[in-house]
Amino acid sequence: MSLLSVIVPCYNEQEAIPFFYEAITETAAGISKTRPEMEFEFLFIDDGSSDDTLSTIEGLREKDSRVRFVSFSRNFGKEAALYAGLKNAKGDYAVTMDADMQDPPALLPELCKAVIDEGYDSAATRRVTRKGEPIIRSFFARSFYRLINRMSSADIVDGARDYRIMTRKMYSSIVEMKEYNRFTKGIYGWIGFNTKWIEFENVERIAGETKWSFWKLFGYAMEGIIGFSTAPLSMATWFGILMAMVSFLGIIFIIVKKLVYGDPTSGWSSLVCIMLLIAGIQLFCIGIMGQYLAKTYLETKRRPIYIARKTSEDERSERDGG
Ligand code: UDP
Ligand code: MG
Repeated sequence: MSLLSVIVPCYNEQEAIPFFYEAITETAAGISKTRPEMEFEFLFIDDGSSDDTLSTIEGLREKDSRVRFVSFSRNFGKEAALYAGLKNAKGDYAVTMDADMQDPPALLPELCKAVIDEGYDSAATRRVTRKGEPIIRSFFARSFYRLINRMSSADIVDGARDYRIMTRKMYSSIVEMKEYNRFTKGIYGWIGFNTKWIEFENVERIAGETKWSFWKLFGYAMEGIIGFSTAPLSMATWFGILMAMVSFLGIIFIIVKKLVYGDPTSGWSSLVCIMLLIAGIQLFCIGIMGQYLAKTYLETKRRPIYIARKTSEDERSERDGG
């Protein structure tokens, strides 16, 4: 027998969960037909939802013992939810997918085939279109991927979804990465393993609405850059070298001008502009250092990545040690 854990992060998904459950159980039944040795568990992570997400999940568990859940004490974010899912999964394989059907369950048989029959450690999906997404959002998303791939050695794929199946070896190595500032897309690239990419057209969410505002996504992008690249830190060095070279040329220019024409340099407005420019660059560089320092600070506190208030296994509150 082999077990596949289906991990579903849910934040205020009461409308989507029934559709999702319907679809995933149907897909699971289809897979069991061709692979009778395959068993499933459906692990829902309630990320501190304020609607009836938890009671919807508990309702499912009452009629289907394959349903398990972990419910957070507050909203910890999707990254924490994915971590909790992988940590609590019992499967030989684990697949992470969204509750809103934007990760089509119909692709699951293909994902299974890649890890079970074709010997890959993981099979991941990538949407080739961003149909139905605001244009400005797509633009920023694409620019972000271009930027981060220039700056970081971890290979981060544009359009990659968090819809991915992994062997236990691979997903337990993700659980071993205990960093507090999590950026899973970077972690996948960092740990390596061989991955098969499966492409599909973007699907719009079935019910409810997206949990990502523009600024939340912007913060996420910053998290990714700071977490997986130290290039911004060396920016101060480059600015410094450039400035020193420019001022050196300026000094030579002024000396020569004085010797040839004999008139002293005039004008304080040019001086003010130069001072403001330099002060701006300095503050910018200090700001970047501040960002890294802030992340380091949070990392050294070693706070748990999530706190569970309730799980399907026990009613007691339990803590996840970092
Ligand atoms: N999600 C979560 N915690 C959050 C935000 C989102 O667990 O703080 C879940 C959400 O319930 C969904 C998945 O992450 O299952 C993807 O979220 P969403 O569909 O809102 O993002 P989008 O597809 O628009 O990028
Ligand atoms: Mg979605």
